[in-house]
Amino acid sequence: MRTVNAYAAVSATDPLEPATIERREVGPHDVLIDIAYAGVCHSDIHTVRGEWGPIAYPQVVGHEIVGHVAEVGSAVTTHQVGDRVGVGCQSGSCGECEQCAKGEEVYCLKGNTQTYAGVDADGTITQGGYSQAIVVNERFVLKVPESLDLAKVAPLLCAGVTLFSPLKHWKAGPGTKVAIVGMGGLGHVGVKLAHALGAEVTVLSRTLAKQEDGLKLGADHYYATNEPATFEKLAGEFDLILNTVSAQLDYNQYVNLLAVDGTLVILGAPSEPVAVDAISLIANRRSIAGSANGGIPVTQEMLDFCAEHNILPETEQINAAYINEAYERVLSSDVRYRFVIDAKTFA
Ligand code: NAP
Ligand code: ZN
Repeated sequence: MRTVNAYAAVSATDPLEPATIERREVGPHDVLIDIAYAGVCHSDIHTVRGEWGPIAYPQVVGHEIVGHVAEVGSAVTTHQVGDRVGVGCQSGSCGECEQCAKGEEVYCLKGNTQTYAGVDADGTITQGGYSQAIVVNERFVLKVPESLDLAKVAPLLCAGVTLFSPLKHWKAGPGTKVAIVGMGGLGHVGVKLAHALGAEVTVLSRTLAKQEDGLKLGADHYYATNEPATFEKLAGEFDLILNTVSAQLDYNQYVNLLAVDGTLVILGAPSEPVAVDAISLIANRRSIAGSANGGIPVTQEMLDFCAEHNILPETEQINAAYINEAYERVLSSDVRYRFVIDAKTFA
């Protein structure tokens, strides 16, 4: 066991505070990573505040992790000491089921192990990236291409793949019209990725406050959803709508923006159930779907695609002690567009 510094939630309502956690010994297939940066995802906030159900405290969150390999287990073949690596939302899966065999570990039929607040193979609760170091099975360690700035790349490990995976799955590209709902941490990376894939990209944000940014990041169009005219003008327009909003929406409004055979993919995860008008789906063979971040192969493909297309998230670097203020700013959509914690400040 090794003790590392971290920031932990101690209850659903208290601020996060400095803590120490134990990392397991490096097993034969494990990689010890010295964390350099950790992104701050809205899921971290949902989790520590118990919005997705009760969790055990203290809990360290963070599933957008990048750093360098510090040690490898005796049987590790895929990573070497000094490599630039990343860890995303999963740190384990059965490795044997049909989904794992296809590289869709996120859909492991026995349930994957989440990087934080999950149950590890040894029965302990996993502790995430707001810390100095982490030990992860080599299968869940991604290679971060040299050309991607380590200080900015971390959010690709969750936000990036969460958008890239559905864009690939529903074949976004030249000739397809894609709408991204919500210009936040997920949404802004989605704009860059969809644009690089060649799709015609529209942002649907509550207001036009971030329009200039959206167009700069690669959007072709930008509309405010607080304007009722938006929903009239864009009716039947999109092949694919990716909804990244963290709060409840009237999904029917968005279903009506789908073309025949179009798909609305729910990525943002509010806790309330979703009600949808069946007739609007039936009459236009529209689909409503969900999508979880992504398996290991698509995550690596996304990192390599970002290197090739020079795509990095827009980030604001913070010290660990700023985390509670950062959470409040995420909740008020006052971040352009992702906080990244400098892991040196966990010292
Ligand atoms: P974020 O940075 O807070 O962005 C969410 C965006 O949603 C905001 O920027 C805002 O966009 C919009 N929004 C926020 N509150 C709203 C409201 N009350 N009504 C309408 N729009 C609102 O969060 P994030 O990190 O991108 O995460 C977004 C959601 O995705 C969270 O629920 C997170 O847990 C979930 N998530 C899911 C997966 C997955 O695997 N499917 C992975 C990661 C995260 P505008 O200001 O442009 O309107
Ligand atoms: Zn996330």
